[in-house]
Amino acid sequence: MTTSFSFADWPPALDDVQLDELILRATTYALSHGLTYLPVRDQQPRFPLDAIHAPLSIFPAPIPRTLFEQAQKLQRIYNVLYARIAMDDEFLDEVMGAEKGVGQVDDFVGQLWAGWKQLRDDGVKQTLQLGLFRSDYLLHQPAGADALSLKQVEFNTISSSFGTLSERVAALHRHLYAATGYFNVSSYFSPQNFPPNETTAGLVSGLVAAHKAYGVDDARILFVVQAGERNVFDQRWLEYELLEKHSIHVIRQTFSDLSSSASVDSDSTLWITRPTSSPTRISTIYFRAGYTPTDYPTRAEYTTRFLLERSSAISCPSVALQLAGGKKVQQVLTRPGVLERFLDPREGDGTWGEKENAFGKEELDALRESWVGMWGLDEDGNADPSIRGSSSAPLASGSSVVATEPRGTASARTHAARLVLKPQREGGGNNVYKAAIPAFLDTLPPRERAAWIAMELIEPPEGVRSFLVRAGGGGEGGGRAVRTEVVSELGIFGWALFGEQGEEKAKERKVLEEREVGWLVRTKGKESDEGGVATGFSVLDSIVLV
Ligand code: ADP
Ligand code: MG
Ligand code: MG
Repeated sequence: MTTSFSFADWPPALDDVQLDELILRATTYALSHGLTYLPVRDQQPRFPLDAIHAPLSIFPAPIPRTLFEQAQKLQRIYNVLYARIAMDDEFLDEVMGAEKGVGQVDDFVGQLWAGWKQLRDDGVKQTLQLGLFRSDYLLHQPAGADALSLKQVEFNTISSSFGTLSERVAALHRHLYAATGYFNVSSYFSPQNFPPNETTAGLVSGLVAAHKAYGVDDARILFVVQAGERNVFDQRWLEYELLEKHSIHVIRQTFSDLSSSASVDSDSTLWITRPTSSPTRISTIYFRAGYTPTDYPTRAEYTTRFLLERSSAISCPSVALQLAGGKKVQQVLTRPGVLERFLDPREGDGTWGEKENAFGKEELDALRESWVGMWGLDEDGNADPSIRGSSSAPLASGSSVVATEPRGTASARTHAARLVLKPQREGGGNNVYKAAIPAFLDTLPPRERAAWIAMELIEPPEGVRSFLVRAGGGGEGGGRAVRTEVVSELGIFGWALFGEQGEEKAKERKVLEEREVGWLVRTKGKESDEGGVATGFSVLDSIVLV
């Protein structure tokens, strides 16, 4: 699409007095509405004493209405796609497994897969799974081009965060508008251009659906959390909504707590036993931990993870769904014919036996339109098909090391300036960008190439600026707004409840329910390759539709 909106003119000008009023309103609003974090500390006290406001932007980020609506529409298809990937054991063994796939060379992936394989051999007790997803996008406008499109950064299947804080930033920006009219500096500021954000209720509706499917009213939902987590309020808002609107209690535990509190009885029921109360039955396990190797410092944490998974509680996500969220899966989906395995447009989606989730060519094309080029560093074919202007680019050659490299690695050297390399990790800070790529490839043991993908860089519109307020409590820029050139990443939340259903003989794998439930914007300084609110590179933001 093309738009008459000029990104380079954003944000509209403010004088210092106006800006100060907005900063004061924004920071006090954030603190009084739980748009907050725990402060950075070597060790968090057991009972928190204080909170700081989340890093935030003063103005919402401009997003074209058609692209926002397109992202919302895509979410329903992605919900079904990733649910089906998680139900396709054969595919996941092939791509992520420790015998044939990435798990051979990536120890973390290998450990998760091996535990899952053992579970399958022993007999899975709960075939229903819940995914709370977030699909992330950047606007894409290659240099010199008018056309603007939406490209997917990644699809998260575990610990997708910032849903509830995002709702609060949207409310903050509406408050700033209500209080000041944003000083009439932009005609785009009007209520119909601030899209609603009800992500808290939306995500909770997924957890409630799983709880109801489990079918025991007084069971509780287990939140598995990290020790020392600073983003606790984002999680607590889900807990409050569950209790206040649905009368469902939550128990928060770390892997370390669970090593002594969790047990699975002969009926496969998961129980949590705490010192002061009788054992509590768990309906649903919501993981806000377990997505990174540092959550598993010893064998004991893997043992705990698989103990939980062995029970009849519904996992959000299961190990299978966590593996489905791997960057390798995202890349393999771009190979010809792979998407059709999951969303077959030929016969009313006969493969999956679900008339209600039948997708046609139009939807498959729309998904593919949202992707940029990707390939595996260990692959020989298909290594740079969509790199613009690459057809005549020579492959790197010269040293004997390079000459024996797979085409995927050689091509990553040649096109380094336009690429990011990604391993199978979550949580930010793991990728290798542009100029750093060749030296990185020199040190990467050849065996480990299979764990990395190369991805074309998305090129967001140039010249967009914003006022960013870093987290409170001093430090560089603390408490003041920094006007800087920015890139905004849009996330769309969705969920799916899926698994096997039906009588023993006629079991069907299906998506029982799925929904698109809200959105998030994170805005980062242009100079930073990587975003990451928790890791300090970016701020929470919202949307003004343009
Ligand atoms: P993680 O799972 O660790 O969040 P991501 O794939 O989201 O990993 O990458 C982290 C960040 O790197 C993104 O938020 C985005 O800012 C940047 N990034 C990732 N892929 C691309 C890309 N293809 N083009 C431009 N920026 C990217
Ligand atoms: Mg990400
Ligand atoms: Mg991620």
